[in-house]
Parts: sequence; structure tokens; C-alpha cells
Amino acid sequence: MDVATSESVVRHAVKHWRVAPTRTYRRLMRISDVVRLKGGDVITVRSDASVTELLALLSEHRIGAVVVSDDGETVHGIVSERDIVRHLHTDGAALLDAPVHQIMTAEVHTCVPEDSLDDLESAMTEKRFRHVPVLSDGKLVAIVSIGDVVKNRIDDLQAERDQLRTYIQS
Ligand code: AMP
Repeated sequence: MDVATSESVVRHAVKHWRVAPTRTYRRLMRISDVVRLKGGDVITVRSDASVTELLALLSEHRIGAVVVSDDGETVHGIVSERDIVRHLHTDGAALLDAPVHQIMTAEVHTCVPEDSLDDLESAMTEKRFRHVPVLSDGKLVAIVSIGDVVKNRIDDLQAERDQLRTYIQS
């Protein structure tokens, strides 16, 4: 049974047979759904840009991490505000002139549009990072942050609450 059919069966059961809706029928969210909602804007920085330039990007765009890419498509690394804080502590103010590639994480965990949001959420929790670039055919197309994941969870809970309220009141 496809998603649309199963959702309409649930609606029918809730309305006519007074069956309580359950989470079993929660729609499987894919990364492509999230990207469709939030858009595919990704801020990138060249690997030879300075940490000072990186700081300007983080501040200007009010973001917590930037994908390191020399051509805007190939992912060379990722650098977050945590990398800056950690290196400032060890290297001091000289860090501001250092190139971004010195502090970036080169082994980037990425995902593809077909991946499920649940799997991404588990990976983010387990590996303790808050940003995951999305690649399509090996090229950078979007980025998903923990904020996007949390927003989706809240939307999900609100939809479920509305469903239950309709059930109780009908
Ligand atoms: P974040 O939680 O995103 O601020 O990042 C925390 C640490 O994980 C920093 O050292 C980042 O460079 C690193 N990091 C962030 N995102 C990723 C990712 N998708 N893959 C690998 N490392 C990452």
C-alpha cells in the first residue's frame, strides 16, 4: 500500500470506525522532502580562505558551519564554530590568518536526497555533529542542520496532536 493510500485508510478509520490514529502511519520523511521545504542554499568557503573570512561568513549568514569547497560543488571538508573555538584555545590569535583547510574536518559525513530523515537524525546524534551536506551525483546540493531535523519533529508532533484532537472531538 502506498503512503497516500495508507493515509486515506487511516482518515477513513478515524472518521467512521472511531479508530485512534497511531504513529505507525507517520509519513516517512526523506532528505529530499526537507530540502524541498527549506531550499538548497549552501554557504561554502574555499579551502585557502582565512579563518577571518570564515568568521565573516558565519556572522553574515547567521550559521554555525560552512562547507569547504573550492568549486562550490565538490566537498573538501566542513568547518564549524566549534573548530574555531577549539583551535583558538590551542593556537591563539594567530589562527585568524590561518587557512580554513588547517582547521576543517576533512572526512565529511554526507547524505543523499533518498536517505530517510530518521537515519540522518540517528547519525547526527551518534556522531555528535549538527550539520550534514546533501550530495546528488557527488555534487553539493543542500545542507541539513539539527535545527531542520528538530523543526520537522515538532511539525510531526503537532500534526499528530491535531489528528488526536479531531479524533477525540468527532
Ligand atoms: P557541528 O556540531 O556541526 O558544529 O560540528 C562539530 C564537529 O563535527 C566539528 O569538528 C565539525 O567540523 C565536525 N562536523 C560537522 N559536521 C560534520 C559532518 N557532516 N561530517 C563530519 N564532521 C562534521
